[in-house]
Amino acid sequence: MLVRMSITGRFAPSPTGILHLGNLRTALASWLSARKAGGRWIIRMEDVDGPRCRRDLGEAQLRDLERLGLVSDGPVVWQSGRSLLYQEALASLHRARFLYPCACTRKDLQVMASAPHEGDGLRPYPGRCRARAWEGFGRALRFRLPGGTVAWEDRLLGPRTEDPALLTGDPLLFRRDGCFAYHLAVVVDDGAQGVSEVARGADLRPVTATQIRLQEALGLPRPAYAHLGMVLAPDGSRLGKRDGALGVEALAARGVALPDLLGWLGWSLGCQAEARPCGLEELISAFDWSRVPKGDVRLPAAWA
Ligand SMILES: [Zn+2]
Repeated sequence: MLVRMSITGRFAPSPTGILHLGNLRTALASWLSARKAGGRWIIRMEDVDGPRCRRDLGEAQLRDLERLGLVSDGPVVWQSGRSLLYQEALASLHRARFLYPCACTRKDLQVMASAPHEGDGLRPYPGRCRARAWEGFGRALRFRLPGGTVAWEDRLLGPRTEDPALLTGDPLLFRRDGCFAYHLAVVVDDGAQGVSEVARGADLRPVTATQIRLQEALGLPRPAYAHLGMVLAPDGSRLGKRDGALGVEALAARGVALPDLLGWLGWSLGCQAEARPCGLEELISAFDWSRVPKGDVRLPAAWA
């Protein structure tokens, strides 16, 4: 019998290191939201980004999630095994005249990026190769963004209207080294996996309008979005490289037991009034996007 699921949430880390507290908090938020709605929750490993992605790091991330009780409904999908799907999407975009070859070298891009740019630090691709004639697949390929702003709604940040041309510019979908690029894989897989809710870190908020344009070009439905703040050091500064290693194992070594960790994560997501130790299941009924803090949260001083 086919059961109609209300939502499908997902957590999609890159297996390039351990999952730090910010990742775990995002994973828990997406899991709680899906569970509360009686929906599905899946894990996807975004390992298309070449040699920085390692299978063993991905396996370690899955073990950490499992220790928290976060287990994928259905097999974990690894993007490195899905090239055919991405190739088909590229072919469909090419038929609709959305692709053009980009001949810019890394150095060209650096020179363009060093020009003064206002905004949040992203350097949009200025469209230098837009007029280049098609040279076949196998070249670096960019997506020709249709003009105009994109209006979308964030479960935490509210309604937004953004111009993707000013944020990312035409995104790279296929790289000169033969790898499919992040924007293509994420959009294709969210569509293929029926993902209806994307909860992720606020660092990805500026690429959302671009990904929505890509969904539209591929005829895929738009999921709901929620962008969660970062976990900062106790003094409000960004966590450094050393603090970044603060994962489940490092915390356990500092005497932070799993119920403590879940209690703090649940508190940081507005599920409980104080960071009292708790179990995973008891957080579900208390979870509500309207109670999740919109901004960044600070690490407890005792854990730093
Ligand atoms: Zn170019």
